[in-house]
Amino acid sequence: MYASVRGMTTKRSDGRSAAEMRTIVFRPGVAEQALASVLVSFGRTQVICAVSVEDDVPGWMKVQGVSGGWLTAEYSMLPYSTITRKKRSNGGKVDGRAVEIQRLIGRSLRAVVDLEALGARTVWIDCDVLQADGGTRTASISGAAVALQLAFHRLVQQGTLARNPMRQLVSAVSVGKVDGEPLLDLCYQEDSAAEVDMNVVITEKGEYVELQGSGEEATFTSEELAQMLALAHSGARQILAVQRAAVNG
Ligand code: UDP
Repeated sequence: MYASVRGMTTKRSDGRSAAEMRTIVFRPGVAEQALASVLVSFGRTQVICAVSVEDDVPGWMKVQGVSGGWLTAEYSMLPYSTITRKKRSNGGKVDGRAVEIQRLIGRSLRAVVDLEALGARTVWIDCDVLQADGGTRTASISGAAVALQLAFHRLVQQGTLARNPMRQLVSAVSVGKVDGEPLLDLCYQEDSAAEVDMNVVITEKGEYVELQGSGEEATFTSEELAQMLALAHSGARQILAVQRAAVNG
């Protein structure tokens, strides 16, 4: 269980060092009916992120006379994505976790999109988890950003949009404290044992969109928070490099 990586002692199940991301891959074009799509992998976690655009805006925007467009996200886990089968439907009951995650995805992407430049359109980002091994929301946000860039490139090429409304990329990564040690990009085994679990959404400029950090039957100090945020920035830079290659490829 204990392994030494570059001189550091680690007990990570997959042998990574504390500051090491899982392998990140963005595979575009997996769903051809979507305007753009990406299969994102953070190690064994895999999410399909697909973008569709509708020439309409939500009713509340019309009622309130809000100009520009809207961007929203939906998140779900496919029944076979988890260790034990997750029911496709839970009898019409609200899945609070899915609602929380899809709202986070929507906020993360809206923070980097000029909704005015979108015109009177709604962008839908569907994130469907194919395989869950921790960090499905962070993989979803990072994959959605790539899919959204590809979708906007297409709309500009088609002449539908005069310019790309996306100001910059955004990525997200999980960090946590496991057995007292700050770790980057937790897999499920680590996530389920974590004393602190944090999801950090960071823009290309290095600014935060959202920090979701909680002690799980435990607490954390300001110093530990600073350590976790430093890990998150290093992870975000690694994700960003792969995102850029996927967008420009
Ligand atoms: N998980 C699961 N079934 C569920 C919810 C979560 O198997 O209904 C697992 C899955 O591996 C997920 C992990 O628990 O990635 C951590 O879940 P969390 O709610 O912290 O969100 P995530 O880390 O995926 O963003």
